[in-house]
Amino acid sequence: MARSTSAAAASAAPPGTALKELLPPKEAKAMAGFGVRDLDTMLRFPPRRYTRPAPLRALDEIAEGEEMSAVVQVVSVRDRRMRSRYGFLLEAVVTDGDHELTLTFFLPKDHMVHWHRQNLVEGRWYTVYGNAGINSRTGQRQLTHPRYEPYEGTPEGRARAERPLPVYPLKKTIAQGTMRDATLHGLEHTELLSRVLPEDVIRRRGLLPLDQAVAGVHHPLTEQDITAGMAHLVTEEAFVLQAIFARRRAQDARTPAPALRATGPLQGALEERLPFELTDGQREVGAQIDERLAREHPTSVLLQGDVGSGKTVIALRAMLRAVDSGHQAALLAPTEVLAEQHHRTLTAMLGELARAGQLDGHPDATRVRLLTGSQRTAARRETLLDVTSGQAGIVIGTHALLTESVEFASLGLVVIDEQHRFGVDHRRRLRTKGPDGMSPHVVVMTATPIPRTAALATVGDLDVLTLRESPGRRAGVTSYVVPEQQPAWEQRMWARAGEEIAAGRQVFVVCPRIEEDGTEDTGEPGEDGAESWRGEDGALLAPPPETGMAGQTILPPRGVVETAERLAARPELAGARIGILHGRLAPEEKQQVMDEVQAGRIDLLVATTVIEVGVDVPNASVMVMLDAERFGVSQLHQLRGRVGRGEHPGIAFLDTRTDPGSPAAEHLASIAEAADGFALAELDLARRGAGDLVGEVQSGLGRTLRHLDVIRDAAVIEQAREDAFAVLAADPELEGHPQLAAAIDARLRDADPDVERS
Ligand code: ADP
Ligand code: MG
Repeated sequence: MARSTSAAAASAAPPGTALKELLPPKEAKAMAGFGVRDLDTMLRFPPRRYTRPAPLRALDEIAEGEEMSAVVQVVSVRDRRMRSRYGFLLEAVVTDGDHELTLTFFLPKDHMVHWHRQNLVEGRWYTVYGNAGINSRTGQRQLTHPRYEPYEGTPEGRARAERPLPVYPLKKTIAQGTMRDATLHGLEHTELLSRVLPEDVIRRRGLLPLDQAVAGVHHPLTEQDITAGMAHLVTEEAFVLQAIFARRRAQDARTPAPALRATGPLQGALEERLPFELTDGQREVGAQIDERLAREHPTSVLLQGDVGSGKTVIALRAMLRAVDSGHQAALLAPTEVLAEQHHRTLTAMLGELARAGQLDGHPDATRVRLLTGSQRTAARRETLLDVTSGQAGIVIGTHALLTESVEFASLGLVVIDEQHRFGVDHRRRLRTKGPDGMSPHVVVMTATPIPRTAALATVGDLDVLTLRESPGRRAGVTSYVVPEQQPAWEQRMWARAGEEIAAGRQVFVVCPRIEEDGTEDTGEPGEDGAESWRGEDGALLAPPPETGMAGQTILPPRGVVETAERLAARPELAGARIGILHGRLAPEEKQQVMDEVQAGRIDLLVATTVIEVGVDVPNASVMVMLDAERFGVSQLHQLRGRVGRGEHPGIAFLDTRTDPGSPAAEHLASIAEAADGFALAELDLARRGAGDLVGEVQSGLGRTLRHLDVIRDAAVIEQAREDAFAVLAADPELEGHPQLAAAIDARLRDADPDVERS
């Protein structure tokens, strides 16, 4: 998987000491080219791994081609201009006392010859490292361009010679040696580092002081130095994150919010109207949300539950509580299609409860208003009037609602659907939208559940509530991998789709592209919700959110347009009414297509991932995902969650042209087996490591995890939470911890450069 090796994101960092004042110009320049300009960033930049030099051995034990290191004495050094090529040849004969070895250097410039002449002194001892070869001319053992350094014949000298060497995740333009030299120079100035972890935390958690810790990470003598050094950096990172959450919670505790306490009449009327009973889980979570909404300070809840677990009804219940209490609620969706879908679903669920001012309206009815960028001016003006006057109890839109100057009469609650398309910090913008200087409460819904410590590390300022069961009547989905190398399987898949259509069901076919010339669907024009999912990603070591999985086919990914044509010609699908949907269609066209699908006038819809989230067509029973290996794990899960939503069991086909048995194909097989989002989250976590998963699921802070591994470091995260909350409780403004405060600001800037801090 492609990893970003840019440190640029980290360099937004602290007001640390500029490297150009500390390092030789060449090193400072190399670091700057890599985006690292200050000491704090450089010394907190984690090596990717360490190489362990081969143990020191006598020269006659060394075989050709072997990584070797040895302690040797220089016997003689000679150099000469080469005849056959440009430059100089420098050869040093060395001995371990019994056997000889030649160190060979090809040097283009004579100042390099001079440099080695000065550093390789006859009679002195050195440790040499390199790959053993045989000189074709002399038949003797040699090392070409070995690394060498003076050997001190003390036990420390020997340990130094065998020490692990850091290997950094670097671009080609900067050499490992340059980075190592730069960090070594930097380590001479550790007194200038910003002290982020409070002294007493360092003591209580048994950590090394910062200077020793960074020395251990970049210039270790032993494995123990690395472990102990990293422990400091890992704890520091966890601590900064938790301090951010602690500070937000402290701010919330000082901020007033409308207490949403009313218990009727709309909330009760809704429950009577529902064609089903709420599950025990829904009741429990509903009550937990009610309890939090009644508080006088803004609550922030993350409601996680698998696709189809019935989150929408819970959200609607909460929104009605706001209306019952004399306030408004807003529901934010990541795209216009989804906002429209929510509008339809909620209006249908509410029925007469949503028809305020109409003859057939319920006496306590409210209005549910949709506000989107593509609305015509007149409709929009009318909607805005309802929002401003408070006539609209529930307002649905994309997260443009946050950025635009939409004035609410009295916004008490904001529900954000499918949070992974929103920056965590976008929530802060809501803080100003409440009435009379108050903040609305926030409920964030996500269908991609993450394990507890991952949640703590990334969204630790939210209370996590979880819906574990899915409503019984939901028929569910069975997934199959379809390797196209086996034509019989592919045929069977389309035949199955044809049978479902013949039985009156509907079919979705999702393609990675709009057209096969490579156009990628960036979602909807002018909506950054979908764009941010595409994520242009500068985060340190974080992969782009949608690199799909390793082992992709080299065949061009399939496009909606071509696929629709091909399917129209397939005998298995003869007579099927085929529609297409993608982000380049005009909003009205998209709406029209979705209406036709809802009305059952389209049997088979070929689409891009614009239908990924939230599309609710109970009659749809088949989801075909073409080139499935190109989609992210949570995307695949979202997509298959689009079918089997009603009474008809769903079938999901993960169609792939990768080789059966390849890692990608096997991975698809394990996705097909994973029953629910929780199983899938574990799977993904195990496969890719938490940082990546979290990076994909949560934009914002989670994307920039550097040292922290939310599974490995679970205990550290819990402790850091305790420590950070204690520090913030004692010193809410961090007056006694200016360097921690600066680190927090730097961290927030990295995570989300656009968002202002409080
Ligand atoms: P989510 O948003 O969590 O993916 P939805 O809220 O869209 O799930 O619910 C999926 C479907 O299940 C919807 O059609 C919804 O009306 C239905 N549903 C929700 N709760 C229940 C329940 N308790 N019993 C039966 N059906 C339910
Ligand atoms: Mg939903």
